[in-house]
Amino acid sequence: MTRQKGSNPPEKLTVLGATGSIGTNTLDVIRQLGGRDRFEILGLTGAGNVALLAEQARELGVKLAVTADDEKYAELKDALAGSGIAVASGKSGLQEAASLEADWVMAAIAGTPGLEPTLTAARRGANIALANKECLVTGGDVFISTMREGGGTLIPVDSEHSAIFQCLEPHNRDKVERIILTASGGPFRTWSREQMDGVTAEIARAHPNWSMGLKVSIGSASMFNKALEMIEAKYLFDLEPSQIEVIVHPQSIIHSMVAYTDGSVIAQLGCPDMRTAIAYALTYPGRGTLDVERLDFAKLARLDFEAPDEDRFPSIRLARLALQRGGVQGAVLNAAEETAFHAFVDGKIGFLHMADTVESVMERMNDGRPADTIDAILAADAQARAYAEDVIRQKQKAA
Ligand code: NAD
Ligand code: MG
Repeated sequence: MTRQKGSNPPEKLTVLGATGSIGTNTLDVIRQLGGRDRFEILGLTGAGNVALLAEQARELGVKLAVTADDEKYAELKDALAGSGIAVASGKSGLQEAASLEADWVMAAIAGTPGLEPTLTAARRGANIALANKECLVTGGDVFISTMREGGGTLIPVDSEHSAIFQCLEPHNRDKVERIILTASGGPFRTWSREQMDGVTAEIARAHPNWSMGLKVSIGSASMFNKALEMIEAKYLFDLEPSQIEVIVHPQSIIHSMVAYTDGSVIAQLGCPDMRTAIAYALTYPGRGTLDVERLDFAKLARLDFEAPDEDRFPSIRLARLALQRGGVQGAVLNAAEETAFHAFVDGKIGFLHMADTVESVMERMNDGRPADTIDAILAADAQARAYAEDVIRQKQKAA
């Protein structure tokens, strides 16, 4: 695939989830890469933060701004009055944004709501810069086959998967032995189970290296984010479960690695800043120039590694189980984890109860169901959420 670099006409881009952590970083990268001279932004979507969405839409002169929240429609309409920018809301609005004729779609909605709009963009043949890992965790087979039928290019934005993508030699795909996903280990890397038992959402969200959205921050502390990334990697790179390794690397400098059959391991390194991975996707197969911190090896001095402790972080074991079982187990893990995450943030359950909840729901739904249609995936997702709510209620009663 070839891409225009700063030449006319500018590349058409839509950002789903523009107001979030990845979304705002994406807009920063767009500005750094040349802004409106280089990109024509067709659509932006957000949810609650309508003021920011309106400001972004005006700055970039987009065609359509969408809030996922129907109740915010009037507020967004008011904020964009006189701008000539079309406004829409809700699921149909998200579908409208995904259907705009953008060459590239940045998929940066958080969680399962990202699945359907991203699939719509994939179906019409858009190239997808994929931050929303849930698309692959819940509906990997359907998503990959939809991409294939649509004919667009899929580039991962998740930093680990961007690293693997950069380390994979396309002509040596059959010589890949395994991939090694690095994990920071989060703020509780060295804590005992007893210490982790009393953790609150405020403590859990303070990440040592990366600045991220709340879901990813808590997921980093519980290592459920890594669990999702193991499943994401399977679909992106067509791997067997046994080819996916996780290693804790507290400095988050090596973003991931690929090991080949001749004993070589290729790694991608950089300061922990999502903008590098975002820019890689937006400039592929070229590279952009970014004002981000450079690695200083003399200052860095050392890189540490340790095996993940699956006793304190059962999420890694649960991901492996979901990978081995296949079918809807990825969707079940994801939906139960999202539900447990909200219950934890709302103070309904403890930090360690998140993994217990996910495991109970995965066991209850371990019936070999395939994940071969969107309806099957959404049904499993809804059932897993309902079961997770059951487990959470029982835990609250017991507490
Ligand atoms: P975030 O919570 O900061 O932002 C989410 C975006 O989705 C916002 O624009 C929000 O308005 C929108 N949104 C929220 N609810 C919605 C709904 N119901 N319907 C439609 N849109 C809705 O999240 P984030 O941290 O930017 O993460 C986005 C995605 O990228 C996630 O899938 C996450 O796993 C992935 N990701 C994030 C990071 C990171 O560093 N933040 C790194 C790798 C991957
Ligand atoms: Mg990641």
